[in-house]
Amino acid sequence: MKRIGEHAIVIGASMGGLLAARALADFYGTVTMLERDSFPAEDIPRKGVPQGGHAHGLLARGRDVIEDFFPGWTDEVVASGGICGDIVGNVGWVGHGVTLKSTPSTMIGLLASRPVLEGHVRRRLLALPNVRAIETCAVQGLVAAADNSAIRGVRAKVGHGEEQTVLADLVVDASGRGSSSPAWLESLGYVRPVEERIEIGIGYTTRLYRRSPGDLGGKFALVVAGSGPNWRNGALLFQTEDRWIVSIGGYLGDHAPDDEQMFAAYARSLPTPDIYDIVSSAEPLSDFMRYRYPANLRRRYEKLIRFPKNYLVFADAMCSFNPVYGQGMTVAAQEATLLAECLEAGDADLAPRFFNAAKAAIDVPWDIAVGNDLRHPQVQGARPAKVKFINWYIGKLHLAARHDGPLATAFLEVANLKAPPKRLLHPSVVARVIRGNLVRRGRGEASTVRAGVQA
Ligand SMILES: Cc1cc2nc3c(=O)[nH]c(=O)nc-3n(C[C@H](O)[C@H](O)[C@H](O)COP(=O)(O)OP(=O)(O)OC[C@H]3O[C@@H](n4cnc5c(N)ncnc54)[C@H](O)[C@@H]3O)c2cc1C
Repeated sequence: MKRIGEHAIVIGASMGGLLAARALADFYGTVTMLERDSFPAEDIPRKGVPQGGHAHGLLARGRDVIEDFFPGWTDEVVASGGICGDIVGNVGWVGHGVTLKSTPSTMIGLLASRPVLEGHVRRRLLALPNVRAIETCAVQGLVAAADNSAIRGVRAKVGHGEEQTVLADLVVDASGRGSSSPAWLESLGYVRPVEERIEIGIGYTTRLYRRSPGDLGGKFALVVAGSGPNWRNGALLFQTEDRWIVSIGGYLGDHAPDDEQMFAAYARSLPTPDIYDIVSSAEPLSDFMRYRYPANLRRRYEKLIRFPKNYLVFADAMCSFNPVYGQGMTVAAQEATLLAECLEAGDADLAPRFFNAAKAAIDVPWDIAVGNDLRHPQVQGARPAKVKFINWYIGKLHLAARHDGPLATAFLEVANLKAPPKRLLHPSVVARVIRGNLVRRGRGEASTVRAGVQA
C-alpha cells in the first residue's frame, strides 16, 4: 500500500467513521477517530446513534464489503447471537402489496442489533496497530491553512476539558446527518453544498419480543414496504435466538402509537398478518422506543467548484436515505471501498475524485429510496416520466415475482445493491414480467394481496 501521510482524523466513530478509518489505515501512519460519545462496555444503544435501538439489517452487498475489510467478521457477529443467511429464501419481502416468492439464493445478509454490528466492527478496527479512538471528544470546528485553501486539523474538546487543536494530513467528517461541515466550510469562505431534501415524515415505533423457533414459519425476517393505499411499513427481524425486534411506522405523521393496544392495532393494519401475530401473542421484552426521520437528505459536495484540500465528508454526513430500505450501512461500506481506491491513486485532487466516485455509488440507492417514496401521493417532489415509468414497471414486476423465484431474486439483487438497476430491464427479465402479468390476468387475480385496514 502507498503511504500518503502520517496522520488522518475521522470525526465520528459510528458505522460510517469506522469504515472510513478502516480504509485510511492502509494509507496513513496513524488514524485517530474522535467520537463525542464514550463506547458502552456492552453492545447497547448509545446517545450519538439514537437509531441504534431500532431495526437494522445489513444488506448482502454491505456484508460482503465489511467481510472483505475484516475477514471472519460475519462469524464473530453470528457467534455473539446474530444470524446470517439467504436474503431471498429466508426473508419475507412484501412490497407493492404483494409477497415476493421465496426461493434459495446465494445472497447472504446479516441480522443482529445495530450496536452489535457496530461493536464488532469497532473492536476489529481498534485491533489494528495504527488506529485509535478518543472518546468523549467533541469536534468544535476545523483548523485551516492561513489562506483557507487546505484543512490542517480540528479543534476539539475532550470531556469538560479545554479546547485543543489536533493536526492531521487529512480530516474526514463522518459525524452523521447532523454534520456541521456546511457551516464550517461557509465560515472558511466556501459555498455550502446544495441540499436535496425529500420530506417523508417517517416514524419508527419499536419493541423487542420473545422469539420462538417456529415463529414466521422458520424465516428470520419479514420486511413490509408500504404501498398505496396502505403506506404503512414494518420490519420483524431476528435479533438473537430468543428475540425479535419489531419496528413499524408510516409516512407524514402516520406513526404507530407507543401504547400496547394501539400498537397492536397498527400492526394489524399492515398488509400481512405476520407482524401482528407476534405483537399480539409474544412476550414483550422492552418498552416502546420512537424515532422520527424527517427527510431523505443529500448534500451535493461533488457539485462544488471550490473545496479545501485534505478534507472529505462521508456516509450519512453526505447522504442519508429513508431507513425503511436498509441502505445506510451498505452505502457507507461502498464509500469506504471507493475511498481506498481513490487513495491508491494518491492524494492529488482527492476530494473531487472521491465525491464523484461516491456520487455514482449514491445515485442508485438514492433513486431507489426517493423514487419509491415519490409513489406516495402526498410526498412532495418532481416526478419525471422516468420515475413514473420505473414505479409502474416495478409494480408489474412485483405482481409477476410473487410466483417467480428468479424474478424475485433479480429484484432483490438490485435492492441489495448487488446488481445495477438496468439489470431489471434486461430482455430476459422484461419477458418474465410480461409473462407473469399475462398469466395473472388469465387467472383473473386481484392486483394486491390485501390492502390492509388503516387503524
Ligand atoms: C431508524 C433508522 C433505521 C435504520 N436502519 C438501517 C438498516 O436497516 N440498514 C442500514 O444499513 N442502515 C440503516 N440505517 C442507517 C444507518 O443507521 C446509518 O446509515 C449508519 O449508522 C451510518 O451512519 P454514520 O456513521 O454516517 O452516522 P451516524 O450513525 O449518525 O453516527 C455519527 C457519529 O458521529 C458522532 N458525532 C457527531 N458529531 C460529532 C462531533 N462534533 N464530534 C465527534 N463525534 C461526533 C456521533 O456520536 C456518532 O457516533 C437506519 C437509520 C435510521 C435512522
